[in-house]
Amino acid sequence: MMDNCPALVLNADFRPLSYFPLSLWSWQDAVKAVFLGRVNIVSEYDRTVRSPTFEMRLPSVISLKEYVPGTRRPAFTRFNVFLRDRFVCQYCGDDFPTQDLTFDHVIPRSRGGRTAWTNVVTACGSCNLLKGNHLPREVRMFPIFSPRQPTTFELQENGRRFPPNFLHESWRDFLYWDSELEIG
Ligand SMILES: [Zn+2]
Repeated sequence: MMDNCPALVLNADFRPLSYFPLSLWSWQDAVKAVFLGRVNIVSEYDRTVRSPTFEMRLPSVISLKEYVPGTRRPAFTRFNVFLRDRFVCQYCGDDFPTQDLTFDHVIPRSRGGRTAWTNVVTACGSCNLLKGNHLPREVRMFPIFSPRQPTTFELQENGRRFPPNFLHESWRDFLYWDSELEIG
């Protein structure tokens, strides 16, 4: 199915526009952008698209010709909280698969705590249960890192440690080489 042929979109610096969610365009949008001259084709699928006047292989990876600065503040999502905290419970310091993590209000909502970057941390089920509706000092459970709003860059850097496993082969190659060439 052609519907299963999305294109991975790289910024002009050849890094994905975003990792989580990974920036993908439908093949229709990708082909349109190619014809409008807005993108370069980095990699292609074997599958071709035909019309009476042209034939082309569907792009699997494209890069923007003009750099788009990552100015947007990251979305405050459960996944991005986990990503900021690198999937590490901020109380016991162990890392867990996503499904075993939850998030904890450092100052519980029942005590006036807000649901915000600055008051929410990643926690495992046991720590979350232990902490309950207590303030950190009452149960001597303090987050390893004081929670704060991450930058897009920080999330991207953390995301590079966790390459998505559902990638098309060429994307995997790209992410692999991209991370291998990174220094420092
Ligand atoms: Zn824990």
